[in-house]
Amino acid sequence: MKIQEADAKSLMLAQGLPVPPWEVARTPDEVRAAAQQFFAHGAAKVVVKAQVLVGGRGKAGGVKLASSQEEAAEIGARILGMDIKGITVRKVLVTTAAEIVREYYLGAIIDRASRRVVLMASAEGGVEIEEVARLNPGAIHRVEAEPMLGLLAFQARSLGLAIGLRDPLLNQFVAIAQGLFATMKANDADLVEVNPLAVVAETVGGEPQAKLVCLDAKITIDDSGLPRHRELEPLRDLDEEDPADAKARKLGINFIHLDGSIGCMVNGAGLAMTTMDLVNHYGGEPANFLDVGGGARRETVRGAMELILADPKVSAILVNIFGGITRGDEVAAGLIEARAQQVREVPMVVRIVGTNAAEAARLLQEARFETAVSLDEAAEKAVALAKGAAR
Ligand code: GDP
Ligand code: MN
Repeated sequence: MKIQEADAKSLMLAQGLPVPPWEVARTPDEVRAAAQQFFAHGAAKVVVKAQVLVGGRGKAGGVKLASSQEEAAEIGARILGMDIKGITVRKVLVTTAAEIVREYYLGAIIDRASRRVVLMASAEGGVEIEEVARLNPGAIHRVEAEPMLGLLAFQARSLGLAIGLRDPLLNQFVAIAQGLFATMKANDADLVEVNPLAVVAETVGGEPQAKLVCLDAKITIDDSGLPRHRELEPLRDLDEEDPADAKARKLGINFIHLDGSIGCMVNGAGLAMTTMDLVNHYGGEPANFLDVGGGARRETVRGAMELILADPKVSAILVNIFGGITRGDEVAAGLIEARAQQVREVPMVVRIVGTNAAEAARLLQEARFETAVSLDEAAEKAVALAKGAAR
């Protein structure tokens, strides 16, 4: 689950990371009011930033500076409602504009190969890190956190040294890197990223002073960790969730869109993978991975069928159910109901074995469904149906 910058900043702040204060605004008037607060506290300029769950907002014109509350309101009016990479901006973040001296990149991810949290840093911050990785991979430095001990100070220090930081900024960097690790751990995040991590010029008691601050924040929460964090569920931005994903989540279905033409409806992740492999084996391409889960009811089956059919590329459907807690007759009933409502004719082959398979077979035969006994037969038929439909 991706969360907005403002929410990511709250989670970072909770771990003691240096994040300048901000306000979220949904109307130009709210932008003006927020800006007024920051100007009253001595800000020379404020930044107005689009809150959308995509990167590169700066380049897209979604991050702008303002020198007065009027200007802030005008910029707010321009950014609110703007389209950034297909997403409509509904809210903005308003904050004091920092005087940026230099921009760094700092991120924490889970590296599945080493099965560790990896901290990555680069002196080439501000720009998209994927670009840096492509053009100049040597500019990205990494350290692996210790699984039992976390990110140790000496590791963070070596990372800071690698990107050219020296004291007193190096000490600040160590605390920030450890804070990033703490943020990741506290929230079961699989990505925590600060880009730019900026050196800003501040005046303390008339003396200029350099300080490291987190000017941007990006966090994705591991979906599998969410049940342990009820408090994070409200951070899900329903405005930006893909409608198909939202529907699958509500139905309790695991649904992943793929590029092929054969829609698959299966119960169990392992069986779903095997089914996709067999579709491939017989020369077809699956259009999706779909696991209806254990004990699926007819409503779930109906919803799953709608998800599959919503993809215009689907030209044949393969249903493969191994009944355990799932009852075959319940699935068959769901399929019959789904077909009655179906707006688009798509050929389908159904294989149902296990619990109540005989009852399912009777229902399907009465409703004149194309069925198969073995998975091989089902996959072969589905591929043939898809090819027939393509012709
Ligand atoms: P992104 O483009 O979506 O990653 O959004 P960012 O929050 O990273 O903002 C993009 C760029 O805007 C940053 O790299 C900075 O150069 C600039 N920016 C963001 N916040 C400030 C700020 O407080 N002061 C100044 N001067 N520039 C800022
Ligand atoms: Mn950024």
